Amino acid sequence: MVPEVSILNEKTAEFTLTAACPACGGDLRLRLSPEGARSWCPTCHLIGRPRVGFGPDGLVVVPDGQAQA
Ligand SMILES: [Zn+2]
Repeated sequence: MVPEVSILNEKTAEFTLTAACPACGGDLRLRLSPEGARSWCPTCHLIGRPRVGFGPDGLVVVPDGQAQA
């Protein structure tokens, strides 16, 4: 499934991962910028730092909202 990506400017993109929140199972908003990736859940307001990379099938996102070190 390919998420719908909206490009905010030439360096920042934002998209939504359906049912990807590790805390509540809701939709997760992801923002990719030169500073890195941030995720935000509009349902439970969980903020995470997902790992984002490119795999053989395209963009790979590993949501990591757990506040465990
Ligand atoms: Zn959530």
